[in-house]
Amino acid sequence: MSKTTKQFQTEVQQLLDLVIHSLYSNRDIFLRELISNASDAIDKARFEAHSNESLLEGNSDWKIKLIPNKEAGTLTISDNGIGMSQAEVEENIGTIARSGTKAFMQALKDKASTDNPELIGQFGVGFYASFMVADRVTLETRTGGSGENGSRWESTGDGTYTIEECSRDQRGTVITLHLKEEFKSYLDEWKVRSIVKKYSDYIQYPVVMDITRTETPKGVDGKEIEGAGTIETTEEQTLNSMKAIWTRPKSDVTDEEYAEFYKHVSHDYDAPFRTIHFSAEGTSEFKALLYLPAKKPFDMFMSDRKKGLQLYVKRVFITDKCEELIPDYLRFVKGVVDSSDLPLNVSREILQEDVQIKRIQKGLVSKVLSTLAEVKEKTFDEYVGFWKEFGQVIKEGIHFDYANKEKLQDLVLFESTATEAGSFVSLKDYVARMPDGQKEIYYITGTSRETLEQSPHLEAFRAKGFEVLFLTDPVDEWVVQALTEYDEKHLKAVDRGDISLDSEDEKKEKDKKREEAQKEFSDLISFISDRLKDKVKEVRFSNRLTDSACCLVAEEYGMNANMERIMKALNQSVPESKRVLELNPDHAILKAMDGIHKTDAASPALGDYADLLYDQALLTEGTPIKDPLRFTRLVSELMVKAAGK
Ligand code: ADP
Repeated sequence: MSKTTKQFQTEVQQLLDLVIHSLYSNRDIFLRELISNASDAIDKARFEAHSNESLLEGNSDWKIKLIPNKEAGTLTISDNGIGMSQAEVEENIGTIARSGTKAFMQALKDKASTDNPELIGQFGVGFYASFMVADRVTLETRTGGSGENGSRWESTGDGTYTIEECSRDQRGTVITLHLKEEFKSYLDEWKVRSIVKKYSDYIQYPVVMDITRTETPKGVDGKEIEGAGTIETTEEQTLNSMKAIWTRPKSDVTDEEYAEFYKHVSHDYDAPFRTIHFSAEGTSEFKALLYLPAKKPFDMFMSDRKKGLQLYVKRVFITDKCEELIPDYLRFVKGVVDSSDLPLNVSREILQEDVQIKRIQKGLVSKVLSTLAEVKEKTFDEYVGFWKEFGQVIKEGIHFDYANKEKLQDLVLFESTATEAGSFVSLKDYVARMPDGQKEIYYITGTSRETLEQSPHLEAFRAKGFEVLFLTDPVDEWVVQALTEYDEKHLKAVDRGDISLDSEDEKKEKDKKREEAQKEFSDLISFISDRLKDKVKEVRFSNRLTDSACCLVAEEYGMNANMERIMKALNQSVPESKRVLELNPDHAILKAMDGIHKTDAASPALGDYADLLYDQALLTEGTPIKDPLRFTRLVSELMVKAAGK
């Protein structure tokens, strides 16, 4: 095949420009990225060789070789890993942007600044980092065992690349960076050595380099022999210690090493929020090194994001995203698990069914949850910061992980009528500060704290001094379906069913008042019920209102306004559900309407007022009204009337 020139996909080129221009603060990492890719490629070759030994071609002396060439001004990184076919080269490097690229670019734009190394890191632009230091990059690669020729890819990072067939005797990938003049220092032995030590020490394959030393020969007395000239010796040295960090005792690993390894597994530039390193013994033997990130990734709620932990079996790499190891609601956890029980030739299908994997998952979840409980207990402020990033995801667990419900319900935090915006209360603290006479835990669901704070449903609770939790995440509607009780107290929505906040005596008195009101306004109530019969299920007097005239409430198990909104947003069909219109018998509107009704039951104003009441109830809970034009016309007419014109 002859050499062809192709265009980078637009998004790839944009990404490349971003990387070149925004990661300048730490150029050294290009080498870490390339070594990391080489190490992954060897992992894959080792794993594939279990089922297809021919790909090895007798070459399993795993290593990553760095070759600085001062004359040519090039730095070469070579591995004997899995290699790539030509189609793979084109797919992985240059043409086809990975799913999520668009979203990623958008996330960058939303942040307004292009200097977002943490975002770029999350996306894993690995290979492209080479263009930070090189003005031309050549990649030669060949897969093993297929008898196919190799491929040669080259680009100057300016929008196009060339690709052609080439012959290669070795399986694997060789990347040659033609360094820009100002970055020739990357050819310096000590510089390369120190970067490898700093960023890639834990890589479990030798990262080697030929080291040449010039010496003057020494005599038997150990002294240099005069006039003997010099001799050059070259030996291949291993630059990294290769110790899999998770297999080392905790006391041996420094914070910097943990942080570096985190960057390797997570592609995150920030330090982790917490590091969890432990081994399990007994029914299931494994070592785990887990990290809780500090910031949520931009794609946490995207369905196609990479999930899972790295899985090793007795230090042999199996897969870099084993989804079965960690439940979805902890999908932000990063890290490595190394099992001693699983067979080496474990397949995808086995992973899904395997009891060992399930046991490991149980152990990991338990450890993550207990770590979070400890953080919450000891450093609540830090926990709040973490909760703001990941709380929404953790809450999914209450719905899906019944076995850990008890632990999870102690981890959730909510804002409430008693907290400032941005501050939180736990259920435990909520219960501890419940005033005498309060028997249930109250909450209200909706889109934002600001709207909820205005809700008429809260009036009676405010009057009583009862705290009401604000549940403003869409997932909260599912949370409360699963979390119906805490510390033997029911969780009760303030906009559902009957509410009774009063003591026996107060209740008696109110019931009496209600009965009287019912009698007094019975004709008016039947008129309103009839007028609104297509819109509401029932019209009744309320226990929740002190100031507002009316509100809408769902039945105990019916669908409330928030749930209806969420279902519609998810494009789900929403069953027709009518709610109850509750009226405040003490409100002046009722008396005024009753007055009209008694003098002229046929007055057209009555129907208009009933409609206005209903629309008011919708507006105060944040639901759009059906006919805003008519609403404004009626209100305008009333204003004119009130002004006496
Ligand atoms: P990432 O490593 O985050 O996936 P890269 O741009 O660094 O992103 O690499 C893209 C893909 O190219 C990798 O996922 C891998 O499939 C392939 N690749 C990169 N380097 C190598 C290599 N040395 N050997 C084999 N495949 C590689």
